[in-house]
Amino acid sequence: MDFTKSEYLKTLSDEYILGGVNSPSRSYKAVGGGAPVVMKKGKGAYFYDVDDNKYIDYLQAYGPIITGHAHPHITKAIQTAAEDGVLFGTPTEFEITFAKKLREAIPSLEKLRFVNSGTEAVMTTIRVARSYTKRDKIIKFAGCYHGHSDLVLVAAGSGPSQLGTPDSAGVPKSVAQEVITVPFNDVDSFKEAMDHWGDQVAGVLVEPIVGNFGMVQPKEGFLEAVNEITHAHGGLVIYDEVITAFRFHYGAAQDLLGVYPDLTAFGKIIGGGLPIGAYGGSQEIMEHVAPLGPAYQAGTMSGNPLSMRAGIALLEVLEQPGVYEQLDKLGKQLEDGLNALIEKHQIKATVNRIKGALTLYFTDEKVENYIQAENTDGEQFAKFFKAMLKQGINLAPSKYEAWFLTTEHTEEDIKQTLIAVDNAFTEL
Ligand code: PMP
Repeated sequence: MDFTKSEYLKTLSDEYILGGVNSPSRSYKAVGGGAPVVMKKGKGAYFYDVDDNKYIDYLQAYGPIITGHAHPHITKAIQTAAEDGVLFGTPTEFEITFAKKLREAIPSLEKLRFVNSGTEAVMTTIRVARSYTKRDKIIKFAGCYHGHSDLVLVAAGSGPSQLGTPDSAGVPKSVAQEVITVPFNDVDSFKEAMDHWGDQVAGVLVEPIVGNFGMVQPKEGFLEAVNEITHAHGGLVIYDEVITAFRFHYGAAQDLLGVYPDLTAFGKIIGGGLPIGAYGGSQEIMEHVAPLGPAYQAGTMSGNPLSMRAGIALLEVLEQPGVYEQLDKLGKQLEDGLNALIEKHQIKATVNRIKGALTLYFTDEKVENYIQAENTDGEQFAKFFKAMLKQGINLAPSKYEAWFLTTEHTEEDIKQTLIAVDNAFTEL
């Protein structure tokens, strides 16, 4: 494969755009550097770069795209929306239609608000929890990503009862001191942190199924324990469903798992590929948000007609029968194929799959928390990533990310992907 134009564009991009990318994970820093492939267009499960190389895409924009690139129904909705005017700064009917459809799918959303990104959604749920409980501290779980607001860019202290330290320059120590980070899937550590800080904790922020150190399921009873302990201390449970909502079934992970938070943050998939975020919960808690309540949140672009109409169109596609069964079936085909190749090549690797999303970790250990994900072999992953890329299979350039399937991937795509994996494993 020839990457001449991508390489040329990298030099140009470095000249004008800081680091050459508009989000750090798009650089190839985590896989040893190099020029990121520059895409020109996408259709279904495929996209095409500026050198006219074709890829089967498992990045799918880090998750938002679940019906493939340029899905005709969503494209049509966006086109029509653009013709009708893209922004009014007044309510539109589309916001109501979309909110109604979301509540029908996710009953815990008695009231919701649209914002523009997952970062904004999570940031606001924290403000609402603080307003509701009149407390300041939050607890989150190591390795989970909740956007780039100050509050969640905080690293763990040395133990469950230690306060956090800034995980990014520019985050004040005073902010980090409001955050406690504990290991995922570890009830004892969580309990220890809550025994210490519980009466100051406004909210506990949880990815109910983790998507940010690969795909990791909650252990049996973990989410129930988080709910019980948090509520016993008078705090709120906040689910970050930015990755998980509409990923595994028509609705949120909370309904799949049967464990319910007090507030939920959304993003990614629900916008059909357009910028979006949303957050919501019970009437009683959401009443704390302006204009009804004292917690302020606003947005010029919030609920914009393009994102609303793309979101409605997306849900119309996802509510068709058989969509999630097909994603699960393809996921299983991919998982089984990967496991057979791991066995054939005697590679130290393991697959975590949840329906149409999976992560291939280079380790022979189970991965159930961040430390285990961190201990997987990043150099092997980097070699694997590049071996796949040159065979026309696009993965996220990080060992911590997932492979996302879409409604447009086919059994034939999976077969081709597995041939590429076979070759890549031979190279390792
Ligand atoms: N929460 C989770 C679970 C995420 O995965 C992300 C983005 N990867 C965010 C929040 C932030 O979303 P955004 O990038 O739209 O701000």
